[in-house]
Amino acid sequence: MYIREFQEMMERIYSHRDLKRGANGTYRWLKEEIEELGEAIQGEDKRIIEDEFADVIAWLASLANVLEIDLEKSAIRKYNDRCPKCRTSPCKCPSEIDAV
Ligand SMILES: [Zn+2]
Repeated sequence: MYIREFQEMMERIYSHRDLKRGANGTYRWLKEEIEELGEAIQGEDKRIIEDEFADVIAWLASLANVLEIDLEKSAIRKYNDRCPKCRTSPCKCPSEIDAV
C-alpha cells in the first residue's frame, strides 16, 4: 500500500466525520495522538508504540483529506530521495540543525 492508497482508505472510512469536524478540530486530534506517541516511546511495549504510530498517520491523513492535500505528492516533492536543505543523500547538514 502506498501513502496515497492509505490516505484514500482513511477518506472512505472517516471523511464524513472529518469534514464535519473541520481542519482545526482534526489538527487537535493529531496533536493529541502525537502526545500519546511521545508517551508510548517512554515505555518499551512495541505494540503500543506501533498503535500510536498508526493513530498519528491516520490523523495526519484525515487532516490532509480535510484540507485536500495529497500527502504522497507533498512528501515526495519535498523529500525526493535527498535532504531538501543540503540536497544530498545521505544528508550532510551540520548536526546542530537537528537540535530542537
Ligand atoms: Zn541535509
